[in-house]
Amino acid sequence: MEKLQIKNLSKYFGETKAVDNLFLDLYEGELLAILGPSGSGKSTLLSCIAGIENPNQGEIYLSNKCIFSSLKGIQTSPEARKIGFVFQNYALWPHMTVFANIAYPLKMAKVPIKERKEKVNDTLHTVGLDSKTHRYPNQLSGGEQQRVALARALIMNPDLLLLDEPLSNLDAKLRENMQIEIRKIQQKLNLTVIHVTHDQAEAMAMADRIAIMDKGAILQMGTPKQIYETPKTQFVANFVGTNTILSGILTDNGKGVLIDGSIDIKLQSSYKVNDSMKDEHVCIAIRPENIHLYNMQHTPNEELYNGKIINKIYKGAYIMYEIQSKKITLRVQSHPVEQYDIGEKIYFSCESCVVIDKKAGY
Ligand code: ADP
Repeated sequence: MEKLQIKNLSKYFGETKAVDNLFLDLYEGELLAILGPSGSGKSTLLSCIAGIENPNQGEIYLSNKCIFSSLKGIQTSPEARKIGFVFQNYALWPHMTVFANIAYPLKMAKVPIKERKEKVNDTLHTVGLDSKTHRYPNQLSGGEQQRVALARALIMNPDLLLLDEPLSNLDAKLRENMQIEIRKIQQKLNLTVIHVTHDQAEAMAMADRIAIMDKGAILQMGTPKQIYETPKTQFVANFVGTNTILSGILTDNGKGVLIDGSIDIKLQSSYKVNDSMKDEHVCIAIRPENIHLYNMQHTPNEELYNGKIINKIYKGAYIMYEIQSKKITLRVQSHPVEQYDIGEKIYFSCESCVVIDKKAGY
């Protein structure tokens, strides 16, 4: 069932189109990550959904109820929207204990004290903060403060939870733990969540679907696998992970691409070329893990090409090489057991690539 529907939404600041004719459907119990560079309109979109910003145009439905419509003149107040919001900077009351911070929205809603206590204790348990009830925010770590902010957003049983870069102030290890924690809580409570981030690894790790945003619009939306394996534009391919972008000519009835006149690469099977595109010039993206290196003792065959190592970066779990083959340079991700030196000649094979030219269709 659709939990949130956004139709034709626009928000301008003077000449700046922060959100530009945006459409979005979100299902109940789904975690959508919105990924995009700084200034792409992510926070403005969240503020429009929460009712903090007043959009110029469009409609927003939450649980099938219209909460904003420019045409019908509907603008439900932020308090009446049943939306929880967690910000990057936690925004906790410094003079209130953990308990009081979390109980605050219940107090405002005049929930009786006994019920308040039960709810706060339940929520503290959900976020794993049972033992920190009486502490003040400055007596908590960054991760604990963010748990309090999350608990405060969850306490009113929101229809929708909005997370605006909630983990970006935490160090890398803690961020990873919190990603897992938030995902567990979201799945346990079947929460519908929009999580804004500029960290693609975080989006990949947490989301059911990812929307890539730029200049106020969603460029592509899909599962992490779809976004990673079949980016439809150069922007998406460059934004999610590492890619080598090259131009080539379609071959083999549209099943492959010929690069630099000699390197033949299969297209991923999900890609279908229409008849008019055969023999056409296209732009392609190759993931570094789809190229494999072999030493010169390997028996050559028609799927192996000659190259030379020109750069090598040790990344711990893998090594990132740059290889040169005639006029092209390719990035290759290789297991650390396979060690090559800069300047060494190698063979390489290319497993598959995707076409990211705008004319392409999936
Ligand atoms: P993101 O969250 O992706 O970094 P924002 O939604 O904050 O992007 O901003 C989108 C665009 O709108 C940017 O160009 C930003 O400068 C502009 N913008 C955001 N808020 C305001 C504001 N209150 N007044 C004027 N311009 C704004």
